[in-house]
Amino acid sequence: MRRHRNVKIVATLGPASNDYEMIKALHEAGADVFRLNMSHGDHSEIKVRHEIIRQVEKDLNSPIAILADLQGPKLRVGVFANGEEELVEGAPFRLDLADAEGDVTRVKLPHKEIFDALKPGAHLLVNDGKIKLLVKDCGADFADCEVVVGGTISNRKGVNVPDVTLPVAALSEKDRKDLEFVCELGVDWLALSFVQRPADVEEARKLAKGRAAILSKIEKPNSVKVFDDILAVSDGIMVARGDLGVELPVQNVPPIQKQLVRKCRAAAKPVIVATQMLESMIESPMPTRAEVSDVATAIYEGADAIMLSAESAAGAYPIEAVSTMNNVAWEVESDPTYTEIIEASRRAEGQSVADGIVSAAREIAETTAVKAICCFSQSGTTALLVSRERPRVPIIALTSYMETARRLCLSWGTNCVVTGSVDRFKEAVIAAVRAAVSQDLVAKEDLIVVTAGVPFNTPGTTNILRVAPCDERLIYPSDPE
Ligand code: PGA
Ligand code: MN
Repeated sequence: MRRHRNVKIVATLGPASNDYEMIKALHEAGADVFRLNMSHGDHSEIKVRHEIIRQVEKDLNSPIAILADLQGPKLRVGVFANGEEELVEGAPFRLDLADAEGDVTRVKLPHKEIFDALKPGAHLLVNDGKIKLLVKDCGADFADCEVVVGGTISNRKGVNVPDVTLPVAALSEKDRKDLEFVCELGVDWLALSFVQRPADVEEARKLAKGRAAILSKIEKPNSVKVFDDILAVSDGIMVARGDLGVELPVQNVPPIQKQLVRKCRAAAKPVIVATQMLESMIESPMPTRAEVSDVATAIYEGADAIMLSAESAAGAYPIEAVSTMNNVAWEVESDPTYTEIIEASRRAEGQSVADGIVSAAREIAETTAVKAICCFSQSGTTALLVSRERPRVPIIALTSYMETARRLCLSWGTNCVVTGSVDRFKEAVIAAVRAAVSQDLVAKEDLIVVTAGVPFNTPGTTNILRVAPCDERLIYPSDPE
């Protein structure tokens, strides 16, 4: 499906977006990537959604990426005898490993490793940061805290420990089961929640065995600190503003978002800006002006993708939310200021032959009348380099692998077409012209840029650039073959 925008839209599926008609409508409205959230829904529900997405992809003949989001080591308190308690500021409150149900003085925190890592002076945040506890004293199986900000605490509420790098495994038992399940189903991206260190990413990559690309969710202060090292071992990044804004003061989130988006572009790896982008649309068909502005800001910053969470998974207006993002993207990308910002923030990166070729392709597109850049990219690497250039004309990525086409759905500006295998550059040029025509991007009298690597089918060899006419008879007019 040809999109008239460059930024990609990720829509989370859930109870509000479960059936074929809705998923098809979301894709038609603009969702390029569907996110399956492993924190909700059992395996049978996930399997049904997965099948529907693949059916829609087939029926519309349009590659769709599926991103499975693993829950990660999310910490939770145990249960209370009364279901909930009111914690008041200044009161003492104990977390421990005892099995007894909780009351207003204590509750179980069933994660032994946490007590080993806690130190007096550390903060614990409960229920999305609404309640704040300060550790006064702690031991191997308890932490005596003071309530700094009070509120209602109830059964199994989430706990964040921002000040401490937790000695917990990156992947829980549940994550490992979920990972194997979704990799067997066949997903394109695996998102890892609460990544703390590069080793967490490497561990998931070992288990995925090449079956999915790995995306690290940045939502812990430590993952911001060691971001460069995490980026180096990840295939993509999510700025997970929800938990990030709990673990760090909320005002730290916008600068971090800007820095991370820039670094990802420099590394030619896709980055998603996520959470609360159109939060009010869970209940209202109209977004707030501030939300529209937030979506626009992420696009002006050059993010590869913007994401909907509950808006599309559990809200009353999933399609309207996708359309809103689509409309904002269209307006922003038509603004000459957008082009100025995107081009001003481009830096010369990389010194490989492929880097040189893609940068030449982008310059040709700026200075002549070519209508599209078509790049042959079996593994997707060259397509990512073209995407990093953020050219003014559409990018068509040609690959013979469906998996590559799907993974690239997350990357800025890429339109993916799956071709048969090509062995000669002449065939490649003709395939590129046909793909550009089929995507409604060019007319016969237009020119396109084609890049490829010869010999074919050797990854990382992009070394040819041709400016070709779109009239097939003119491509090789006197060639007897
Ligand atoms: P979540 O991640 O929706 O899985 O919590 C995103 C975020 O924290 O922003
Ligand atoms: Mn999160």
